[in-house]
Amino acid sequence: MADEADLAFDSEQRHLSLALAAQRRRAGGFSATGSCHHCGNAEGMGQRLFCDADCAADWEYQDSLKRKLGLAEPPVH
Ligand SMILES: [Zn+2]
Repeated sequence: MADEADLAFDSEQRHLSLALAAQRRRAGGFSATGSCHHCGNAEGMGQRLFCDADCAADWEYQDSLKRKLGLAEPPVH
């Protein structure tokens, strides 16, 4: 027997788990590969995703454009 508060809570929980799942999916396709995700430089990268803030900013910008255009690549597993 669910009252209104229970229903609201349920939908909040559902929303939260969907958001977390989306975040996990995104993180799953995006991990350190030993080279810069933007320019491909592999020197001294270690576990970093980008060589510097410029590369990170450029990549973010291009990624957001791709997402807007629906061109984002599906996560690789
Ligand atoms: Zn770079």
